[in-house]
Amino acid sequence: MTSLPSQPPSSAPAHSAATPAAPAPTVDAARLRAIAHVALDMDGTIYKGGTLFDCTLPFLQRLRTLGIGYTFLTNNPSKSTADYLAHLRKMGLSASADQLYTSAQATIDHLRAAHPTARRLFVLGTPSMLSQFRDAGFEFTVDSADDEPDAVVVGFDTTLTYARLCRAAWWISRGKLYLATNPDRVCPTDQPTVLVDCGALCALLQTATGRAPDITLGKPDPTMLSGILAHHRLQPHQCAMVGDRVYTDIMMAHRAGALGVLVLTGEATAQDAAVAPQPPHLVLPSLAEFGDLLAAAQSSAAASPR
Ligand SMILES: [Mg+2]
Repeated sequence: MTSLPSQPPSSAPAHSAATPAAPAPTVDAARLRAIAHVALDMDGTIYKGGTLFDCTLPFLQRLRTLGIGYTFLTNNPSKSTADYLAHLRKMGLSASADQLYTSAQATIDHLRAAHPTARRLFVLGTPSMLSQFRDAGFEFTVDSADDEPDAVVVGFDTTLTYARLCRAAWWISRGKLYLATNPDRVCPTDQPTVLVDCGALCALLQTATGRAPDITLGKPDPTMLSGILAHHRLQPHQCAMVGDRVYTDIMMAHRAGALGVLVLTGEATAQDAAVAPQPPHLVLPSLAEFGDLLAAAQSSAAASPR
């Protein structure tokens, strides 16, 4: 895990000043012209520390002008779609519910598609996450050996209690369908604490029960992207996944067959991209340059003779 202190302003990625150290991968215009939808990671890609990057709103406006749709996605299931939209609105970005896709929604979509008879769940999750499942028509079993669920769902439960953890372990040990919303072991924070995330809870439950989740949604599982593709009736080559992490955002793009675009406004460096087993299709200083490439690809098509 790389953990770097805040970079001095002079080395922060700027739109035109920063140049990736490694030879930049390129994508031909035809591939870019096929892009009809852009899936955007959030932290490190469109904002950092609760502040939108200067290029974010102009980039989204550009996508709208080009007729390209977009969805924001996050592995964090602890906030419902409504709570996330309010969070984005506070930063000055208005989006609709169908433009946001969380790992909780991916879990709901997976349950509906692969296990349509699973309606009653025992869930370790925040009230906000539970509200999302309730709105999707699921019911919750209580903490009792007499109230048998169809499946256990483990999320990033910041309201976790010992009794409910034990009840989850009980149903997992009884062989119930077991889903995890996201693989993250910790949630990044600038506070003096460690935010124990879903992956660490699942490791604890595996120690207690001997079972790992039957499926773990969230990046890099391609279900996150295939859910978005299904919502918009798109093929993988029509989608670009833009993010700041090689081992989640870009790996998911590869697994889903989408274009993987790494921006250097967050965690990964150009060097990280260069040594990745599955490198990004594009490495760019920020979203702004991706907007430039998409616009150039469309205008080159308009200029070329038919
Ligand atoms: Mg990120």
